[in-house]
Amino acid sequence: MSSDLDDLPLYASAKKVYPQAVSGFYRRIKWAALFICLGIYYFLPFLRWDRGPNLPNQAVLVDLVNRRFYFFPIEVWPQEVYYFTGLLVIAALVLFLMNAIAGRIWCGYLCPQTVWSDLFLVVERFFEGDRRERIKRDEGVWNIEVWARKIAKHAVWLFIAWWTGGAWVLYFADAPTLVRELATGTAPFAAYVWIAILTFTTYTLAGIMREQVCNYMCPWPRIQAALTDEEALNVTYRYDRGEPRTSLKEATKLRAAGQSAGDCVDCNQCVAVCPTGIDIRHGSQLECIQCGLCIDACDNVMTKIGRPTSLIAYDTDNNVKARAAGEPEKVWRPIRPRTLIYFAVVAVVGGAMLYQLATRATAGISLIHDRNPLFVTLADGSVRNAFTVRLINKRPDARHFALTVEGVPGIVIEVTNITSTADWRPVVAVEPDTTREVRALVTVPKGVLDQKSVPIRIHAADLFAGERVVAKDHFFGPG
Ligand code: SF4
Ligand code: SF4
Repeated sequence: MSSDLDDLPLYASAKKVYPQAVSGFYRRIKWAALFICLGIYYFLPFLRWDRGPNLPNQAVLVDLVNRRFYFFPIEVWPQEVYYFTGLLVIAALVLFLMNAIAGRIWCGYLCPQTVWSDLFLVVERFFEGDRRERIKRDEGVWNIEVWARKIAKHAVWLFIAWWTGGAWVLYFADAPTLVRELATGTAPFAAYVWIAILTFTTYTLAGIMREQVCNYMCPWPRIQAALTDEEALNVTYRYDRGEPRTSLKEATKLRAAGQSAGDCVDCNQCVAVCPTGIDIRHGSQLECIQCGLCIDACDNVMTKIGRPTSLIAYDTDNNVKARAAGEPEKVWRPIRPRTLIYFAVVAVVGGAMLYQLATRATAGISLIHDRNPLFVTLADGSVRNAFTVRLINKRPDARHFALTVEGVPGIVIEVTNITSTADWRPVVAVEPDTTREVRALVTVPKGVLDQKSVPIRIHAADLFAGERVVAKDHFFGPG
């Protein structure tokens, strides 16, 4: 095929993109994705979830002060940060899976950069009109009307950016309370700083930089290009049907004379609506976020001129090659070894996380051995080690843990500053959803210890719920 790629310069300065509004199937999907994503982002902090007394009732909350993350019924403690690692692994694999099935569907429909850029474009069109009007205004004389429109647009952009920053901080505190504090100027200073940062980044990335973020800043297009295969669906210009392109008038003449003409009438509508300003007829490009808007634009043109739609469509490289070779189209296979492997790994990692969540302990214990001195020999010849014991109660009710120790014959444990015991075992009360540190003295009778160090285990047993946790350490002596 004679390629118009040959005519492209190797280097070109970035040009301002003026995407034209378009209607159609993929645009409707994008609107739906935009409303759902923005709705979740802006309103989720106000959703309540009853966790009982003494616990916050916000469904999604990052409680930095108490070092907890709440997600509906799940409460994650700092010691369980590995859940986030698991989530990140699943997120990456789901991205790979989406890519193997339908290319850059994340970029085109769900990425925050795409969603907010779309929202900012709505505002731009409202104040400055569609593509032609915007180009005309920018290239013409900047009179008062142009300035007024631009100032109004930037003011609304800033308002949306500020609202976005405001919604962000609501995930880190009780949302209704923080809203009241923000309204009365009594919110913590950090909240204002974060709102300012998010206002700046949203305004800059979604309003000013837009497609340049995808083209120059985001690593995903490069990674995606390396991950895709010939069976993934990608937005494709079907050049076998579209070429040789010519004007509608010329094409009609050629067909009337019994000659062949491509379906592309070179109207440039696919380029005009593209949010990254590229021409999909040049083939698959890194800049294409696969939003499908060029499909809508071209389908509208094809419908108007009475030709079949889908000159631009989601298609596989395999099909493109098959049609070029005059072979029948291949059936798209979303279920194939690559997608099955991704799906299996997502299922295994997700299943392991769910199992871990469902069976996780609601109590915990950790030890810190006194280092100086490691041990003391008492007047009666027995040897004593001291520990700081941290007990964790992840339940919403107070609990009582009885401590025991094992590992050496005759070994005993005492806890200073507590008065309660059960069967001679020291009992430590831990308030709901908290940790408590106590000082424990572990003693071995005279003549029992024949080594410098022996492993021991300290158990904490919930007196009523029966849950038992254990921590390992060493007991040191003179040997
Ligand atoms: S070429 Fe088409 S699918 Fe790709 S970014 Fe432009 S409009 Fe979207
Ligand atoms: S919208 Fe369709 S017909 Fe018009 S230039 Fe693009 S591919 Fe050709």
